[in-house]
Amino acid sequence: MESLSSKRYKKEFVSTFPGDDSGSLQPRQTPGMLYSKAIPTPVEKPTLLAWSEELAEALGILKPTDQQEIDILGGNLVTDTMYPYASCYAGHQFGHWAGQLGDGRAITLGEWEAPDGKSWELQLKGAGPTAYSRRADGRAVLRSSVREYLMSEAMHYLGIPTTRALSLVSTGEPVLRDMFYNGNAAYELGAIVMRVAPSFLRFGNFEMLNARKEVDSLRQLVDWTISRYYPHITGEDKVVTWFKEVVERTASLMVEWQRVGFVHGVMNTDNMSILGLTIDYGPYSFVDNYDPNFTPNTTDLPGRRYAFGKQPSIGYWNLGCLAGALLPLVEKDQLLATLESYQEIYWTKYYTMMGNKLGLDELRVEDIALIKKLEEMLNIVQPDMTIFFQLLIDLPLSVESAEQAEAHFREALYEELTADQRESLYTFATDYLTRLNTNTIRRQDSQRRMCKTSPRFVLRNYLLHQAIEELEKGENTLFLKLQEAIKEPYSDKYDEFFQTRPGWATQKAGCSMLSCSS
Ligand code: AMP
Ligand code: MG
Repeated sequence: MESLSSKRYKKEFVSTFPGDDSGSLQPRQTPGMLYSKAIPTPVEKPTLLAWSEELAEALGILKPTDQQEIDILGGNLVTDTMYPYASCYAGHQFGHWAGQLGDGRAITLGEWEAPDGKSWELQLKGAGPTAYSRRADGRAVLRSSVREYLMSEAMHYLGIPTTRALSLVSTGEPVLRDMFYNGNAAYELGAIVMRVAPSFLRFGNFEMLNARKEVDSLRQLVDWTISRYYPHITGEDKVVTWFKEVVERTASLMVEWQRVGFVHGVMNTDNMSILGLTIDYGPYSFVDNYDPNFTPNTTDLPGRRYAFGKQPSIGYWNLGCLAGALLPLVEKDQLLATLESYQEIYWTKYYTMMGNKLGLDELRVEDIALIKKLEEMLNIVQPDMTIFFQLLIDLPLSVESAEQAEAHFREALYEELTADQRESLYTFATDYLTRLNTNTIRRQDSQRRMCKTSPRFVLRNYLLHQAIEELEKGENTLFLKLQEAIKEPYSDKYDEFFQTRPGWATQKAGCSMLSCSS
């Protein structure tokens, strides 16, 4: 174990690629550069609010015990072996090319080598302006920092690839935000998350280099990414082989999001990890009532581009942008054929996952129709997704009537069912039980499979909202409880949270829908 202040950090990225060394925080375009040096802007009073014990343990990082260590987490201290920088990337936002974006409020301090030899980038989010802050302040509010801190850890414990969060620090400084974009800006508490990942590289890093026609740098970044993060890929065709693996990882990630009902909310290509991680937690949400059209992002409301049911096709669209960025390196036909493989990969993984949610022994051709019926029924009935799949585990082996079906799933329902909805639920239940009857595995094993695939606890927005309201008043009971609950999402230990979203939370900002303001 080593302390944050005594560690000798590695800086492979900045020593490999050209960057702007000036340290200027003036917003600007940085052609020819992959990053710009950015020293965090000190804050008034960095105070440690949360620390991820298990993550720190795994990385060999000593828990801060004095102010010097906390100063690092708050951006007030940069040690000699660190090289703080903001990465330069571009991206497609809401379907349109947005040009240069870059880390506007994220600053990587250095690369931490863990005891197992693996390197992790340590990055502060909200530590002040960088060359890429454009007109914004480079800061983050407590509200959004708590959301990123808890949710990225929650995703990890759900078994979903994600960036991680090591610490949450309050800055002691107010931050001005117009939460509803209605001209009523107000001061909120500032905070900084230290997040960690093997790499924060995004599709947008590659898009940037292609857009600027910096083909040598593009090739170098691709080679570097492969040798460092995909070392098993070698040989003549390595770039296309690598792209294929990015396609696979992205497809897998989409399946995982659909499995638990996670809606990212801002799937712009600058928010797509090249490692297939969930990255940049903003106005995300779990679906409560199952609605493929649900988007948690108020900015996304006109088109619902990033709605729950659209995520898999957006994953594909975003990979199309990445393929476009690789055109100078690989033949177009090869890239297109690889991109097309997404469909097959996604659907195979998706149906396998759904088969597990249903506790099926194997996936048979006719099961696809059953899964489609399930989706139709869920869309018609709109039960709470998490609770529905839990109740499904204990469905009696014979359901005699529509009323009995409704009674079994009552805990998952947001409203009394109409006759059509009840019928739809009943029809599915009987079709499903017919299929279960032919299972060649024991019921217990089938149920075990379901328990492992469907979480019982998910970090719902209204819970986060309540925890944040408490924290803003200096009270951390719910926050601490959620910090523990996220570690056991598949158990019944936190059944006090096993309930549908309460009525008061349906229309309340921050409890169902959120703006990007953070
Ligand atoms: P997002 O969609 O939240 O991932 O952010 C899109 C772009 O806006 C990225 O380049 C961010 O770095 C930048 N950005 C978002 N919030 C801020 C902020 N408060 N200060 C500076 N840049 C920001
Ligand atoms: Mg982003």
